[in-house]
Amino acid sequence: MNDRPIIIAGPCSVESQEQLTETVHALSQIHEVGMIRCGVWKPRTRPGGFEGLGEAALQWISGLKQQCPSLKFCCEVAKPSHVELCEKYDIDALWIGARTSGDPFSMSELTEAMRGTQKPIMVKNPMSPDINAWIGALERCFQIGAKQVLAIHRGFDVYNNLGYRNNPLWEIPMELRRRMPEIPIICDPSHICGKSQLIADMAQTALDFNFDGLMIEVHCNPSQALTDKAQQITPIELKQILQTLVVKQENGSAADELSYLRSQIDSVDKELLKLIESRLQISLKIADVKRAHKMTTYQPKRWEAVLNKRIEMARETGLSEEFVKELFEKLHSESIRVQEESMKIDR
Ligand code: PEP
Ligand code: MN
Repeated sequence: MNDRPIIIAGPCSVESQEQLTETVHALSQIHEVGMIRCGVWKPRTRPGGFEGLGEAALQWISGLKQQCPSLKFCCEVAKPSHVELCEKYDIDALWIGARTSGDPFSMSELTEAMRGTQKPIMVKNPMSPDINAWIGALERCFQIGAKQVLAIHRGFDVYNNLGYRNNPLWEIPMELRRRMPEIPIICDPSHICGKSQLIADMAQTALDFNFDGLMIEVHCNPSQALTDKAQQITPIELKQILQTLVVKQENGSAADELSYLRSQIDSVDKELLKLIESRLQISLKIADVKRAHKMTTYQPKRWEAVLNKRIEMARETGLSEEFVKELFEKLHSESIRVQEESMKIDR
């Protein structure tokens, strides 16, 4: 792996001086690791769990910063008092968690406490897939004069998480990249996966999407962790993952081959659009027949039969059934819309 991805690693929570020291010393031996993450105040969904050690943990971090001057540390902040304490102990970077970034009141108070900071601020996506809330949180950081603002993609809590702890919904970080291309985006596979066995694959997927870095939860003894036990990996496991990851370039050396294949994609897309256009023309003729015979635009039985037939065809061709279903649902609703429009003209 080359130097490009920023690697941030460390425990979900600081639990004791021993646990922190052992984990950080092991991570200091992995040259790719550029920053240690440590949770010092832990947001808990339900009361009664471990809530972090606060200032005591910051004192230990401060001691480790003396011992390992090349390592940088970052902590989650959720309140102005957290920002002040991180300032007092010279924590190198701050991150804003998923429960805070979606709340404009908290974001406004928190960023106000950071006004004029020179430290990098990293903003996790909000729990829900609301890209505007994520962008708003990033904008608030720029508004208070932050020079370095990064985004962290940690997945979204949606109804169908498809086996992940938080569904990655890659289209959202990709849209963020399109709308704010200057902002580096880090992927947090630990909170997306929720399971240590899935981290390596997810980290590679993030690099395939050209993410700028990874934030991975690492604990010297994951089975004893007080928070996020199932998703933390050991320093040795991290080292193995980093050795197998392949960094992708947006413009690699295959430029000619890619441009040839892309021109093929362009012409297939053109054909697709022409076909969709002719499908809609037929829908319009159908609308004329329906109108002449006083039939409803939406015909549930016919639609069910069409959908089932298309899914069966998908099965035969090897296309994903889910994809074909979504595609035809979209085509059908556009047909209905176009038919309804044509009915209106005649009214
Ligand atoms: C964390 O990083 O430990 C954390 C609480 O993450 P998130 O805000 O993504 O849930
Ligand atoms: Mn965690």
